[in-house]
Amino acid sequence: MVFLLLMILALLLVKLQDEFSRVPVEPLIAVDCPGCGKFVELDWVVCPHCRQRLNESCHICQNRKFVGQMFCPFCGNKGGGQP
Ligand SMILES: [Zn+2]
Ligand SMILES: [Zn+2]
Repeated sequence: MVFLLLMILALLLVKLQDEFSRVPVEPLIAVDCPGCGKFVELDWVVCPHCRQRLNESCHICQNRKFVGQMFCPFCGNKGGGQP
């Protein structure tokens, strides 16, 4: 019984190590901050340079969109936090 538990534990550890060694390859999408014009990443919420809010939720579909985008990339509507 103890042996079985150890086996399961070992299997879990191997699985965990697997997860950690796999680095997700995410493309870095840099955009201009609408506040200061410096490079920011598309999924950042606030600009680290000027504290301009970078993401807002679309008031039609509630998905998060970048404030610099004219239209919501999820529903195509002219989204915005404050209608
Ligand atoms: Zn900024
Ligand atoms: Zn939307």
